[in-house]
Amino acid sequence: MRALQLTDPGVLELRKVPVPEIGPTDLLLRVGAAGICHSDLHVLHIPFKMRDEPLTLGHEVAGTIEAVGSAVEGRSAGERGIVYLCWSCGVCRECVSGNENVCRAAGRTAMPPCPGLGPDGGMAEYIRIPAASFVPIGDLDFLQAAPLADAALSSYHAINGARAQLQPGSVAVVIGIGGLGHVAVQILAATSAAHVIAVDVSAEKLDLAARCGAAEGLIGGPDTAREVLDRTGGRGADAVFDFVGTDHTATLAVESVAPNGAYRMIGLGGGAPEITAGPAGGPGWPWGASIRKSYGGTKSDLISSVALAQAGKLRVEVERYDLAEGREALDRLERGLVAGRAVLVP
Ligand SMILES: [Zn+2]
Ligand SMILES: [Zn+2]
Repeated sequence: MRALQLTDPGVLELRKVPVPEIGPTDLLLRVGAAGICHSDLHVLHIPFKMRDEPLTLGHEVAGTIEAVGSAVEGRSAGERGIVYLCWSCGVCRECVSGNENVCRAAGRTAMPPCPGLGPDGGMAEYIRIPAASFVPIGDLDFLQAAPLADAALSSYHAINGARAQLQPGSVAVVIGIGGLGHVAVQILAATSAAHVIAVDVSAEKLDLAARCGAAEGLIGGPDTAREVLDRTGGRGADAVFDFVGTDHTATLAVESVAPNGAYRMIGLGGGAPEITAGPAGGPGWPWGASIRKSYGGTKSDLISSVALAQAGKLRVEVERYDLAEGREALDRLERGLVAGRAVLVP
């Protein structure tokens, strides 16, 4: 089969490799589509080899079951679905509590095994997956379904973790209207009555946010925190979802979140928000606000995301590429040119 593999740091090659063999608890999926994520760029730029043999990228995967492991029950060839990207242990306290994204087996700051970031991913014609990671999608289009696996999952989880702040009349700020951000605006619109303010450096992306249900858009810059405060009577936003995560956006979040508000870090841009213990006053961190570094999501979040898409309340803006065009698509993503999500079709 053909697979898009990282063969050396920064080197991506379309290679002919054997179709993966599956174990008794696995499924073999014939890939219908695989989304491209900013994390793929991070992986591409890691200056050392992540493992000795080439790594197939791709953690947003949709496809059709081709073969079923001998010990798997309840799945059959021909079923269509997407892959839940946390290949967690399934038996630890966090997993059984429904917090598979912070599985105890992953340790303290690592992530559970994720296809395309350890095990081989889905930018290929076939992928081996644990049967437990398969989530059915019915007749959803593969191009639409693949990005749900991360873009919707991670957005849904971050939003669900700030549910207490998202009362009718609340203000939610979404920073970064990319693959995740434009999906987050739709999830907010579909699951809350919050007033959504979108922030991006691109006017086109603010147009996309408006089409997704944002009430207002702000071009990001040095005055953005002040503008959010002006629009909220000086109080700040009840929830700030940062899908960029650089120093600039972290500072914006710290300076625009309301007392008792929720600041959720999703974008992994390495930003270091300055949160200090100190008396009241000034532009900094308000009383009672909470911060959460939000990773991925739970399987339940993914099932909810699929349900929103099936109900027609979540539509991913997609740019379609052939598998062989993966490098070109990644370059476009790096230059900020992708509208919504770039998705590869093998
Ligand atoms: Zn990702
Ligand atoms: Zn676990």
